[in-house]
Amino acid sequence: MPENPRLQTEVQAPFTFSQSSLQDYTDCARRFQLRYVVQLKWPAIESDPVLENEKSQVEGQQFHRMVQQFALGLPAEKIARMAITDNLARWWENFITATKTGLGDLGTSRLYPEVTLSAPIGKHRILAKYDLIAVKDNQATIYDWKTYHNRPKDERVAARPQTRVYRALLVMAGAHLNESQSFSASQINMQYWYSDFPTEPAKFPYDASLYKHDWEELTNIINEITNKQSYPLTDDDKKCSFCSYRSYCDRGVGAGDAEDVELDVSVEDITLEQIQEIEF
Ligand code: SF4
Repeated sequence: MPENPRLQTEVQAPFTFSQSSLQDYTDCARRFQLRYVVQLKWPAIESDPVLENEKSQVEGQQFHRMVQQFALGLPAEKIARMAITDNLARWWENFITATKTGLGDLGTSRLYPEVTLSAPIGKHRILAKYDLIAVKDNQATIYDWKTYHNRPKDERVAARPQTRVYRALLVMAGAHLNESQSFSASQINMQYWYSDFPTEPAKFPYDASLYKHDWEELTNIINEITNKQSYPLTDDDKKCSFCSYRSYCDRGVGAGDAEDVELDVSVEDITLEQIQEIEF
């Protein structure tokens, strides 16, 4: 599809970048343009079957909410009542078991659930909302809960904007979580915990050279975006399978299998009312 000359291309400063917008840009420049520059809402179905996909999203949100409540100190037995589907019950059981083993440090750490950090980057800002940051003995661990059906390879996860943004931003903007002292990169770890693969978390330690590299990469990609004159469609048709702009871009109306979607959800994106609207 040729570039539509009427589509806005300029990113207005200051723009707030996030791991989601940078991931969209990495997947497809046109998707970034449509979603964040033009802010085009397009009512396409992201994957089939639709209800299955919606259910997965809502379950993911509910699981995040349950873990948030756990981090805030609510008794696990009470939270367990929120596990109203088989998936939620299994994930919750896996989580509680893990808090006695692999996630054992949660019980002895200062916990900061659902923290939002942001920092300037050039003329813009970069923002991240964390599922949980746990601090113990001046070491910070970033936890991110994933309810994926399939466990992705660690190499792929390491290269994702989320891994870069979350660790770098904690160095830049996390001093208030560490008695007003900025964390050094070597004090930071990141862990993705997969609710269906509870003994196979992906752990990514950090150091000064990785931090320098990440911040340079983020600066470069943001400079690239802000100097862009056109946003081409991706050559990788697979990226379109789960994209809401499929029909807009003339990349088909049929969707991929919901089982293959890597849903990134956080507790902020959905309301309790929406949870109750979905029938399980
Ligand atoms: S449908 Fe494909 S080309 Fe169009 S925005 Fe989505 S990923 Fe990009």
